[in-house]
Amino acid sequence: MKKSKKLVVGNWKMNPQSLDEAKKLAQAVKRATRGLKKTDVVVCPPFVFLSPLTSLSDSPFFLGAQNANYEAQGPFTGEVSYTELSDFKVDYVIVGHSERRKMGESDDLINKKVRAVVGGGMIAILCVGEEARDSNGDFYNFIKHQITSGLKDVSKKMLDRVVVAYEPLWAIGARESMSPRDLLETSIFIKKVLKDLCGTFSDSMKILYGGDVDRVNADSLVRDGNVSGLLVGRESLRSKDFIEIIKLVDSI
Ligand code: PEP
Repeated sequence: MKKSKKLVVGNWKMNPQSLDEAKKLAQAVKRATRGLKKTDVVVCPPFVFLSPLTSLSDSPFFLGAQNANYEAQGPFTGEVSYTELSDFKVDYVIVGHSERRKMGESDDLINKKVRAVVGGGMIAILCVGEEARDSNGDFYNFIKHQITSGLKDVSKKMLDRVVVAYEPLWAIGARESMSPRDLLETSIFIKKVLKDLCGTFSDSMKILYGGDVDRVNADSLVRDGNVSGLLVGRESLRSKDFIEIIKLVDSI
C-alpha cells in the first residue's frame, strides 16, 4: 500500500503586518518545498493576504484559510464563506482552532463548518485538544467528544477530506510542548476514536500535532508521537525555522 504523505501546516494567525512581508514569507516557504517527495505544506495567512498569494499555490505548496463561514452567501457582515474560499485556490481550512472556540464557537457551529468545507471540495483541519490534563484521564473523554461532534453527519466518503489536528491548549503559544511519549498515547487514542466512529474510512485520515512545535522537537514529535505531521504557529512566521521543520518532517 502506498504510504500517505506527511503534512506540515503553518498558521500565521493575525500576522504579518504587511502584504510585502506575507509575500516574502510565502515565497521563501514555497521555494523550500520544491523537491519535497513525502510532505505537503500548507500556509494559512489572514484572509486579506490569501488572494494575492493564490498564484503560488501548486503542489506540494498549498494555501489554507484560518476560518470559514458555513453559509454560502448572505447578510453576515465581516464573514468569508466557504464558497468564496474554494473559488480562489484555497485547499485547506482550519476549523475549530482553540482561539476561535474561545471567541464562542460551539461544537455545533464547528461541525457545520467542517461539513461546509468538505462539501465545498476543500480539506478541513479540525482542531481538538484539552485545556488541561487531569490525573484520572477525563481529558480523553473531552477529546473524544470534540472529535465526535466535529464529525457528526460528515459522509464517510468525505472523511479523506478531514485532518484532525490535536492541539493541547496548554501547549499552544507556550514554551512547553507535549512529550513524544504522551503524544504517542494520545495519537493511539485518537486513532481508536476515529476507527470506532468511521471504520476503515478512518485509515485515510491524518492526525497532526500542534503546540509549541520548533525545529528541536519536530522530528521526535512526528517520529515517536506517530503522527502524520504538524500544525505550527509561531515558528511558521520565521521562514528559516519553518523550512527546517518541513525538511525534518520530509526526512522521516
Ligand atoms: C497554534 O496556535 O495552532 C499553535 C500550534 O501555536 P504555537 O505553535 O505557537 O504553539
